[in-house]
Amino acid sequence: MKFGTKAIHAGVQPDPTTGAIMTPIYQTSTYVQSSPGVHKGYEYSRTQNPTRDALQKNFAALENAQHGLVYGSGLAATDAVMKLLKPGDEVIASNDLYGGTYRIFTKIYQNFGLKFRFVSFDDASTLETHITPATRLIWVETPTNPLLNIIDIAAVAQIARRQRVQVAVDNTFASPYLQNPLDLGADLVMHSVTKYLGGHSDVVMGALATNDATLAQRLAFIQNASGAVAGPQDCFLVLRGIKTLHIRMQRHCENGRAVAHFLANHPKVSKVYWPGLEDHRNHQIARQQMRDFGGMVSFTLKGDDMEEARRLMESFQVFSLGESLGGVESLCTHPATMTHASIPKEEREKAGLKDTLIRLSVGIEDIEDLLDDLKQAIG
Ligand SMILES: *Cc1c(COP(=O)(O)O)cnc(C)c1O
Repeated sequence: MKFGTKAIHAGVQPDPTTGAIMTPIYQTSTYVQSSPGVHKGYEYSRTQNPTRDALQKNFAALENAQHGLVYGSGLAATDAVMKLLKPGDEVIASNDLYGGTYRIFTKIYQNFGLKFRFVSFDDASTLETHITPATRLIWVETPTNPLLNIIDIAAVAQIARRQRVQVAVDNTFASPYLQNPLDLGADLVMHSVTKYLGGHSDVVMGALATNDATLAQRLAFIQNASGAVAGPQDCFLVLRGIKTLHIRMQRHCENGRAVAHFLANHPKVSKVYWPGLEDHRNHQIARQQMRDFGGMVSFTLKGDDMEEARRLMESFQVFSLGESLGGVESLCTHPATMTHASIPKEEREKAGLKDTLIRLSVGIEDIEDLLDDLKQAIG
């Protein structure tokens, strides 16, 4: 089955009791047993829920995975991955990470004896020098937030496999429509479903997918034992959101391309970060591993003046100033004070993130209105 057909049909069946075409919201905590231990496969909703099951199957299919699991948030999914590890284990992560990922690694799991090395993945061949006998996991996010750097997943996976280290990829920015890390050799793919998969800015959820049966079994155990599950109402909303993922992503990419080119040609803009631009530093890798380049675009203004950047962000009429991304509506974020405030300034600057950088999540509105809005805001 091709992507759009899977988005609509994978994992979902008409309801067996009524024929309802939409998966019911099984808003129940427990399931009646006919005799002790005799049930229909469902005992308690932390462990299994039919609405969640449908979403997990649907999501797994989009990542070409055998196994999918969903969680109460993207960070709850990341948290579940960390629980696979033990004190003394080492994780190598890129130095250009989602702020909340950096925070859970350094402020929570470091206290439990995990060690994190934040390194540049620009040249995958140097990765090998950071691997020690204690390294268990390589954590990659690509495209990165907010600089839209691209990490070569296949190259990282190849090195990791040689050293028997597992690779997890945060695929939130690309969505499964643009990129499938498991096909490129990763062991695990993570999503903040809150973003493109949900797509309507109405749900917070996370997900993991894998083709490794042992990993899937351990993760299912952790999902139940730690309990950060997604509720049935939210699962329903995401199942519904995913049905249009391919159509939404097409428009996000189309609008992202137009916005990136508009900004690149604007005399007041100094730099545009969008992997589809030919002068983007990782454009070739992006072409290889992604099907298109997405709707996330970051930029800085000439002069690097914080007051001017602030004025710009305050004058948008169609773009809304706010955290998050991947919804149908266009959003504008100031990473230094919003998404990345929990990363120390010196770490941010080391990773090339200026305080004046503006990040856009280009939505699926009419492009003329988005460009007019940018025109009037930049002035
Ligand atoms: C939002 C986000 C997360 C965290 O997901 P939540 O659903 O907010 O917990 C992780 N990684 C990336 C790249 C994100 O954008």
